[in-house]
Amino acid sequence: MTEAETPRIGVFICHCGHNIAGVVDVVAVAKMAESLPHVVFSTDDMFMCADAGQQLIRDKVEEHGLNRVVVASCSPRMHEPTFRGVVEEAGLNRYLFEQTNLREHVSWCHMREPEAATEKAIDLVQMSVARAAKLESLPVKSVKVTPRTLVVGGGITGLRAALDIANRGFDVVLVDKEPKLGGHVAKWTHMFTGDRSGSEVVGPLIKEAKAHSRIEILTNSSVVEFDGYIGNFEATIENRKDKSRSKFDIGTVIVAIGFDAFKPYGYYGYGESPDVVTLAELQEMPPRDRLLKPSDGKPAGKIAFIGCVGSREPGKKGHEHCSRHCCPAVAKAASDLKDRLDEVLILYKSIRTYGRGHEELHRLARSKHVIYSRFPVDEDPVIEVVDGKIKMGWTDVYADEKLQFEPDILVLASAMVARSDIDETTKLFGLTRSRDGFFNPEHIKLAPLTTHTAGVMIAGSAQAPKNASESVVDGSGAAAKAVGIMAQGEVEIESTISRVISELCSSCHTCVTACPYGAIEMDESKDPPIAFVTEAKCHGCGTCAAACPSSAIIMLHSTDDQIMTMVQAYLCAPPDTIGST
Ligand SMILES: Cc1cc2nc3c(=O)[nH]c(=O)nc-3n(C[C@H](O)[C@H](O)[C@H](O)COP(=O)(O)OP(=O)(O)OC[C@H]3O[C@@H](n4cnc5c(N)ncnc54)[C@H](O)[C@@H]3O)c2cc1C
Ligand code: SF4
Ligand code: SF4
Ligand code: SF4
Repeated sequence: MTEAETPRIGVFICHCGHNIAGVVDVVAVAKMAESLPHVVFSTDDMFMCADAGQQLIRDKVEEHGLNRVVVASCSPRMHEPTFRGVVEEAGLNRYLFEQTNLREHVSWCHMREPEAATEKAIDLVQMSVARAAKLESLPVKSVKVTPRTLVVGGGITGLRAALDIANRGFDVVLVDKEPKLGGHVAKWTHMFTGDRSGSEVVGPLIKEAKAHSRIEILTNSSVVEFDGYIGNFEATIENRKDKSRSKFDIGTVIVAIGFDAFKPYGYYGYGESPDVVTLAELQEMPPRDRLLKPSDGKPAGKIAFIGCVGSREPGKKGHEHCSRHCCPAVAKAASDLKDRLDEVLILYKSIRTYGRGHEELHRLARSKHVIYSRFPVDEDPVIEVVDGKIKMGWTDVYADEKLQFEPDILVLASAMVARSDIDETTKLFGLTRSRDGFFNPEHIKLAPLTTHTAGVMIAGSAQAPKNASESVVDGSGAAAKAVGIMAQGEVEIESTISRVISELCSSCHTCVTACPYGAIEMDESKDPPIAFVTEAKCHGCGTCAAACPSSAIIMLHSTDDQIMTMVQAYLCAPPDTIGST
């Protein structure tokens, strides 16, 4: 190491208000850090991420000629970008910054053991300082972005997203599997909130999208091949009727493929009588002055609803969640029908009218004398179909009494579940799914619309059960993300990726199959072929480096040397013994 490269490390220990300092002795940790090799400055501060904390880093870099910075604070997921920006402003390469997590990894999980927590904080800071001494500058690279978005799914979410993007001057290819746009909303006759039908809500969006010069609509079509990386994807779209294919260069993608309305076979007589229907099927019945029984076409006088059908079932994969739309949708349908029918009954486990205007709908239904009766969570209503008649029996929680009812039509408010063909889309775009079956965002709180495939966003009910207005919010949010990327013309890519040392590569192909992101290919022009990494596709996960039998892959910013130095620091051996054991 030359004199110019000698590390001069600054250490900044954050209190995070009371979050860290309430458990960890931050002053002792900062004091300890002063004695570590290469540390020329160490301090503690109330909030390192605040303006004053950031300024402190910039000032101390200048004052002490620091060339490495360690901040011991919260999770890097929260503030690594913030502090990388700060060190860049101070004139350092962003990769000469190291963050230690003293909040999620120490104070929050060891709240009742302050001494042990302080010891752990000291260990972690020692390790970070040792690693910081080995950090190297990496180039900040960027790639050009094709100014066109692929929107997959032409429901209310996809339509909103497509229009927002097109209205900002970017091209959109909008693909839908079905012959018509509009998704589920187009089918609903009674929509909460308000008094418009689904086609009245989504119709204007369809009209606007069809007339927009920047939106190319491909219905009856699906994406069959998808490759590339952020800003530079290529999508092959196939017409499902004539099988013709077209290719598009794409910069960003929004996946808005929606959900399936659960068919609750095995629940409450569904499938045993045509008069037991789902809420979706009721919604699709044409509006008539009198509601007609599906079995004999005679006018219905009494109707009952049951909530949470196929939702909120603990331990049943894909059915544990609340479907969120049904409480207000049932209240709306029941309230409308009460104007025409004699008796309307709703059996429920809980009422979740959390959204704007939902509680008002619930109150309206009750004020019209729709009967609400709560059944116990562990005792479902019993439904029998006898001679074509529906017989319901249940225990009312509040009256603590067994009750009975014979409706002409029984409506099951069944779950919104992940699409049955969601696997195809998951694989195509390198997405992941959560336990409920819907797509996983990059981070549930901090990055709810982006995914681990950079440049690919998810929106609407493909992500979780959402009502139409929540889906529209998502559509606009995802559109803003896509426009944000395309408006820059180019986008920075991470440099913390893998690199193949070609002299060591033995052409075994192991890394090609190991990489979960398809980032490695073999360069067949070489003899023998050598593995190479498409940098913009690499997520820096390290799978290939672990799998390579020839140790031919290094992880930039997490090199073996950097990792082993941390281990050595933890074991408290002098750093110069590394490699000699
Ligand atoms: C019974 C019921 C009643 C409801 N009532 C209301 C209500 O009154 N008010 C309200 O606000 N919300 C209501 N909702 C919720 C509402 O339906 C959803 O919020 C809305 O449909 C979500 O829109 P979306 O575009 O995300 O998904 P969807 O409506 O499911 O649209 C997805 C679109 O993607 C297309 N697609 C799917 N897979 C692919 C693929 N691989 N390639 C290309 N295209 C694909 C589909 O054909 C479809 O057009 C109700 C839901 C249910 C189940
Ligand atoms: S919205 Fe209401 S009916 Fe639907 S699953 Fe949730 S609690 Fe049950
Ligand atoms: S680090 Fe991960 S994403 Fe990058 S090439 Fe290796 S396996 Fe693929
Ligand atoms: S796993 Fe290692 S040796 Fe095998 S092809 Fe990949 S880089 Fe080369």
